Amino acid sequence: MGNTIFSKIISREIPAQIVFENETLLAFRDINPQAPVHILIIPKEEIPTVREISGKKHAELLANMYDAANIIAENEGISSDGFRLVINCGKNGGQEVYHLHMHLLGGRKMNWPPG
Ligand code: AMP
Repeated sequence: MGNTIFSKIISREIPAQIVFENETLLAFRDINPQAPVHILIIPKEEIPTVREISGKKHAELLANMYDAANIIAENEGISSDGFRLVINCGKNGGQEVYHLHMHLLGGRKMNWPPG
């Protein structure tokens, strides 16, 4: 069993609003949304941060995450207007949960630069 709150969501120990699932991924609505659509896409495998990702080992997983983002954006009706994908890494990246996750944000115009 995993160490983070996201492991407990994967194992259904705690509830989440799940919007997408396949063999390797789970996606659910962020509990503190920063946009009208704010969904987290996570691998079921426990990978703490981007720093543990290697192109060789995780190419298929990463491709799956982008495919899922496109499918979910389409399902949520935000695909054609555009959206933002964010992966925070570590302390300075603003990461709070150490289980790799991609934020899918949309439904409003995003600002740049980020805070
Ligand atoms: P990060 O700062 O990139 O690590 O993002 C972690 C995200 O997880 C934040 O946007 C939180 O609002 C979100 N979060 C934390 N706990 C939960 C939960 N139980 N269900 C859904 N989202 C959560």
